[in-house]
Amino acid sequence: MITLKEALELDSQALQELRNDLKKKIKANKELNAYVGLEEAGEGVPIAIKDNIQVKDWSVTCASNILQGYKAPYNATVIEKMHQAGLGAYGRTNMDEFAMGSTTESSCYGKTLNPCDYERVPGGSSGGSAAAVAGGIAIAALGSDTGGSIRQPAAYCGVVGMKPTYGRVSRYGLGAYASSLDQIGPITQNVEDAAILYDIISGSDPKDSTNAQRDDKVVPNLDPNRKLTIGIVPSYVEEASEDVKKAYGKTVEVLKKMGHTIKEVSLLDAKYDISAYYITATAEATTNLARYDGIRYGNRAPAQNIKELYINTRSEGFGDEVKRRILLGNFVLSSGYYDAYYVKAQKVRHLIKEEYEKVFSEVDLILSPVAPSVAPKFGELATPMQMYLSDMYTISVNLAGLPALSLPVARNDEGLPIGLQLIAKPYDEQTLFDGALGLEAAL
Ligand code: GLN
Repeated sequence: MITLKEALELDSQALQELRNDLKKKIKANKELNAYVGLEEAGEGVPIAIKDNIQVKDWSVTCASNILQGYKAPYNATVIEKMHQAGLGAYGRTNMDEFAMGSTTESSCYGKTLNPCDYERVPGGSSGGSAAAVAGGIAIAALGSDTGGSIRQPAAYCGVVGMKPTYGRVSRYGLGAYASSLDQIGPITQNVEDAAILYDIISGSDPKDSTNAQRDDKVVPNLDPNRKLTIGIVPSYVEEASEDVKKAYGKTVEVLKKMGHTIKEVSLLDAKYDISAYYITATAEATTNLARYDGIRYGNRAPAQNIKELYINTRSEGFGDEVKRRILLGNFVLSSGYYDAYYVKAQKVRHLIKEEYEKVFSEVDLILSPVAPSVAPKFGELATPMQMYLSDMYTISVNLAGLPALSLPVARNDEGLPIGLQLIAKPYDEQTLFDGALGLEAAL
């Protein structure tokens, strides 16, 4: 597939041919189930959009039954910024329901397949976006990352996925999962395309009160030759599978050869990340999902009275994982448990942030695994707990609000992609992309 950089050079006739060709390819790869709709908006370079980002007049369902029939009344800010830069929204990509999951199995449209191996999950929750780019049926895509949902599917499918600093990219028009963690970001074929798309969608927006209102760009200053100090986390890597460990070791050698300084650092045990994340994320999700009551949006179940209407609509509309999280979130916010769980989790979140600040006083970037293994087979993560544990390397980045980029670095003996992530200081996307661009070239 043509890259985003190349596509931006095309004239309107060539772009039209590209769109026609893309449509044929998507139809020929229907079994991947990467797309759940083929709407088009805007004329420019076609970019695939996760089903939780509003595009005016398109259906937007967060892969949930409860939102069937709902049409977006306005464009998300990222879509407006794309239009201004000559990109157009093209096609809806599959996802875990309300972005809750790590496999894209919880979608009401059925699972998406991993283009590298149809028996394996593409990762999640932005599994459709990653599978579309990896499967050669999207030039680039937008995903959202609350606890790894861009980086992890990118790693499982062998493409690049980038999560911006919290506040860099407007959340206006993004279906909220956990508002203090969510960020929209690019999934692309290479690092340069990720930088291009990141520059286009990031920047100030008066419509999002949590937006950082910063407009500095990375592409004009991209420098793959910078020599950096890169932190490695041996205690973290210990927990990963043998093939991930091997890829990590090899990548560290490459970084050394490139002239970077490697420094061993330590972070809090990942078990604290998991606990703090799943309390914070479910608490915020409970609040955000309260708006889906059968009255304001999408589906409404038949009922005799208002109470029945809420109960029937939510019982029919939400899937099991979403219900589980609503229950958990209500539990940790309930008066008897608020201090013991929610408040405690906020304190742990603060410690995680401080730990990163300490590390970043000594290094420019941190190299970490993205997931403990290559993409699992369908059904391999049998319990919700197993799935939550597989997020161990990605969620602290969201808790601390940092930018990170997942880069394919190797294939295991079975040919399955392995991704590692570089993590940077808040608002230091420049160093993140510089380091990633250099590493990509050296690999
Ligand atoms: N797997 C994590 C979760 O289920 C992260 C999902 C995400 O980043 N949206 O919450």
